Amino acid sequence: MAKPTTVGTSVFRRERSSRTDASLRGSPFGANGEPTGSIAEGPDENALRRELLYGWWESARVSRDRLPWRTTRDPWFTLIAELMLAQTQVERVAPRFLRFIDRFPTPHSLAVSTPREVLELWVGLGYNRRALYLQESAKQIEERFEGVVPHSLSGLLSLPGVGPYTARAVLAFAFGDDVGVVDTNTGRVLARAFVNHLLAPSGAQALADAVVPGGEGRKWNLALMDLGSLVCRLREPDCAHCPLRAGSCRFYGARREGSIESDDPARSSHGVSRPQARFAGSDREGRGRLLRAAIAGTIVREDLAAAAGWPEEPLRAERVAARLVVEGLLAQSHSGDYQLP
Ligand code: SF4
Repeated sequence: MAKPTTVGTSVFRRERSSRTDASLRGSPFGANGEPTGSIAEGPDENALRRELLYGWWESARVSRDRLPWRTTRDPWFTLIAELMLAQTQVERVAPRFLRFIDRFPTPHSLAVSTPREVLELWVGLGYNRRALYLQESAKQIEERFEGVVPHSLSGLLSLPGVGPYTARAVLAFAFGDDVGVVDTNTGRVLARAFVNHLLAPSGAQALADAVVPGGEGRKWNLALMDLGSLVCRLREPDCAHCPLRAGSCRFYGARREGSIESDDPARSSHGVSRPQARFAGSDREGRGRLLRAAIAGTIVREDLAAAAGWPEEPLRAERVAARLVVEGLLAQSHSGDYQLP
């Protein structure tokens, strides 16, 4: 048997070839990655993937099962965790999540808190607007859903800041529904292993929904997510140790056969594998500094640029602070000073 390491990082970096119409023949996806027909796959192929994936996951999941949001099926805790995890690394989220659910164990407890209380627990996770979205969601859960996180896609999507990923994550991980949860990790595995084809967000969602084994929405999505995170990584997929390489990963199989149609589909699947913008030197970094400064006390207008970390760029600091005011994360007094709302 050929060594699996012949398909590794170096091969993934081969000169990219352009996809031809021939590469799309028989595919349920168009050249733009949108679904064009039935997504259903051969039951044997999916059954094999399921068996291999679960076999790997049962042995690999020990440490990830200690993640605090994996030990709960509470929809409120799951909603909090998924909003935190949407754009922040697992290691940074874990301690914050525990403090947050300890302080806000129910939608009601968050709904009646002040923005300051919420932001004090959130700052450091980045994308602080999510904290206010979560608080607004808590209020709406109180007012429209009798204090209970809705168990429906439409209900979840109607909450502020809750998008298709977060809504389906709550449905699958808390309620156990058979929906596909598409994030960068699962989207990458779907694009590579299942179709070896570019996937637009709509195509990835349709495929993800179609391949969930009945009654196993939670387990399936967690396993797929872990495979994408730990093995089928964006830049260095560890095919040598991947359970799907043995006959059930289409991308791996195409590479081994030297197919010219086997450009890495995950790299061009817009909205599926999107690298995050650089943080250092970004406006996001200044926003975080301003919010931390505001938590410590009022920011006098003359000190704004220094508080943002841009003493030589006062106009940039004012622009970013003004944006924070518009978003409801800062309030400005008549004298021009800034403070938490
Ligand atoms: S699913 Fe496995 S075999 Fe396929 S590209 Fe990803 S790591 Fe490699």
